[in-house]
Amino acid sequence: MQTLWQNLRYGARTQLKRSGSFVLALIALASSLSLALILSCDAQPQGRNTSAIKIERFTVSNVEVNLHYFDQRLVPLDARIKAVVGQAFSEAVKLFGGLPKDSSGADYRRFQINLRYGSGEAECDPQLIEIEMNEEMERKPIFGYGTWQHALIHEMLHFWNAETFGYASGREQWFNEGVTEYYAFRLAIKLGLISKEDIPARLALPLGYYLNDSGIGALSLCEAGEGARKFQHYFLVYGGGLAAGLALDFDVRANSGNAKSLDDLMKALYRGFNRTDKLYTTAALQAELNRLTGRDYSEFFRRYIAGREVLPIGQYVSVSDLYFVNNPRRFEATSQKGRILKEMFYLDQK
Ligand SMILES: [Zn+2]
Repeated sequence: MQTLWQNLRYGARTQLKRSGSFVLALIALASSLSLALILSCDAQPQGRNTSAIKIERFTVSNVEVNLHYFDQRLVPLDARIKAVVGQAFSEAVKLFGGLPKDSSGADYRRFQINLRYGSGEAECDPQLIEIEMNEEMERKPIFGYGTWQHALIHEMLHFWNAETFGYASGREQWFNEGVTEYYAFRLAIKLGLISKEDIPARLALPLGYYLNDSGIGALSLCEAGEGARKFQHYFLVYGGGLAAGLALDFDVRANSGNAKSLDDLMKALYRGFNRTDKLYTTAALQAELNRLTGRDYSEFFRRYIAGREVLPIGQYVSVSDLYFVNNPRRFEATSQKGRILKEMFYLDQK
């Protein structure tokens, strides 16, 4: 996958690449493309060909993990990086129902993460993550929620969603990036990287950015992901896709007594699609969801995914309920809605 800089420079190639990027440069807040370009160019690491100063190896789910450190300042984080990578990878294996696969369909035996010092730009290729991060991102997360742990989890999820089962075109970026964001949030919460108290505010940020994107109501989520628009309308894709994932997950749970969830769709994509000759389209996502739930999501997709209507997220699920589920004075935490929210965001775990 590509960095922002590469995307702007080689925008036409966007559709050809199979993976997604988690560009945490301040692009979407920048008022002009030229500013974004400068920020991103500045963020480009010096000399990608330099060799690592330290290599660490460990095994998770029988897969060899190679951490290549390119900056001394990241080495003190080593134990914590190993913990996040190990825990998130094994959780993702459970989520998708198996190890990530290469283009020949064989399970990963190893992957590598190149760790450089920088401000959050990252990309994922088959069996390789390139990430620029720094410890400060924890205290001052980019966009208010982008910690280095969140960025690492997001990129690792692309080993499955992007690199094991690939999207057919830019019109699926809302799912490739936004639903990956949704699961990055859920895994970060499950791993205890976001406290219960912080969940509503952290989650409200990307949902709020979605509603504040300049393309809201004028571009569909599908249109927002096409070509260079993906970066011009970053929050329509990432925040809008997260909103769609959240709404669909809650709806599937609410209509199945919490017996089914969006996780079932992720497992179905893992089993039924690949990155070569069976790529998923938005129509295929809808068909799979209908098949798995026995419900008809065509209106949802027609209005909020392929259409330009603003997703009325509160009609499905409200993040303020996530506050009250922990502070039950104004919300019945034992209601069906409360139980689903607790399950979705692991609020009962210690
Ligand atoms: Zn991404």
